Amino acid sequence: MSKIQMKTPLVEMDGDEMTRILWKLIKEELLEPYIDLKTEYYDLGLKYRDETDDQVTTDAALAIKKYGVGVKCATITPNAARVTEYGLKKMYKSPNGTLRAILDGTVFRAPIIVKGIEPYVQNWTQPITIARHAYGDVYKASELKIPGAGKAELVFTAEDGTETRELIHEFKGAGVLQGMHNLDKSIDSFAHSCFNYALDTKQDLWFATKDTISKKYDHTFKDIFQEVFDNEYKEKFEKAGITYFYTLIDDAVARVIRSNGGFIWACKNYDGDVMSDMVATAFGSLSMMTSVLVSPEGNYEYEAAHGTVQRHYYKYLKGEETSTNPLATIFAWSGALRKRGELDELPELREFADKLEKACIDTIEGGHMTKDLALITKMENPVAENTENFIQCIKTTLEGLLK
Ligand code: NAP
Ligand code: MG
Repeated sequence: MSKIQMKTPLVEMDGDEMTRILWKLIKEELLEPYIDLKTEYYDLGLKYRDETDDQVTTDAALAIKKYGVGVKCATITPNAARVTEYGLKKMYKSPNGTLRAILDGTVFRAPIIVKGIEPYVQNWTQPITIARHAYGDVYKASELKIPGAGKAELVFTAEDGTETRELIHEFKGAGVLQGMHNLDKSIDSFAHSCFNYALDTKQDLWFATKDTISKKYDHTFKDIFQEVFDNEYKEKFEKAGITYFYTLIDDAVARVIRSNGGFIWACKNYDGDVMSDMVATAFGSLSMMTSVLVSPEGNYEYEAAHGTVQRHYYKYLKGEETSTNPLATIFAWSGALRKRGELDELPELREFADKLEKACIDTIEGGHMTKDLALITKMENPVAENTENFIQCIKTTLEGLLK
């Protein structure tokens, strides 16, 4: 069988620890034998980030802007312990933060659904994708501890010097204070990313805030979404047979629990932070969560939602057996290849991505899985495979599908 050809390279971002081991295995066993893989390689492993003073991360982000699609391995975000462990020149910022700052955009997280790994919420038969706004609010807030009585005000000084004031509270005793902000431009690009991704994946879009209480702040989010929808997406949504639906956050939470899934839930920064962990856990396992950053310009960066699985890596280094789940990393590759296939009109590449995902799901549904899933499955007598053997199981299933 001749290999599938590609037109435009994928921006490939290698990473750290156990996921770096998985990365190599996935390429060698599941991709390169079938695809004439074209990538532009960026080594985001911590060692090389340090050697290049993190320039490599910026270069990778610019390459995604140039080519449109990237696939990223999990990477270490250095803390003090990592600075010592790797002898780093400094404590570099999170690579994901750097990529997001350059590309702008929204992160969409969706679980991989497999029979036998049942969500805790039994009626969730389809995935729920969380779209988290990644700018501002409490994450860029200023805070004060108020020692005692006094008056707190919001003050805005315009460029011409005019002041607008709003009383926050007349403190009679000690308390706390917080000031936060967001930008119309950022909310607007969040809205565009969400509407585009909904069209892309043909799923309904839900958005919720607390606009009844926050009549200016949250209401602005609601208004911008509605305006962007009415002006640019209403007809496209009708054509695609999908809907946009706004509701109060409390109502959304109740509806999400009663739903069957199969939609995108757009959340403000804090809501998305909290709800994505809840939804991920309720669907079963962090190792089955995929993640894609969609920029308002239509650039895509695919990755697993989990980290570098450090604990497994240290076992691996000691020569001990590991059972690390590669699914989210494989789905990052299949997602990126499928997108490349769509953009470059390469149906064979798209079909390969579909088959690779099906091979993963069929393998697990056939009873072979990694330990994390074997521990939570409802299946009788699951076979817990080690890292290498599980990838071989997927390869065998894939070869059957490719015949
Ligand atoms: P982690 O890699 O997400 O793993 C935490 C635990 O979750 C693991 O120890 C393991 O549990 C389980 N787990 C996660 N993924 C798994 C998989 N694919 N297969 C099986 N089990 C899996 O988080 P961490 O170990 O706390 O963090 C390691 C590094 O990842 C940190 O340096 C952090 O900066 C980085 N990180 C990167 C990203 C990213 O690049 N997007 C995201 C988050 C964290 P058991 O040990 O119980 O088996
Ligand atoms: Mg969180």
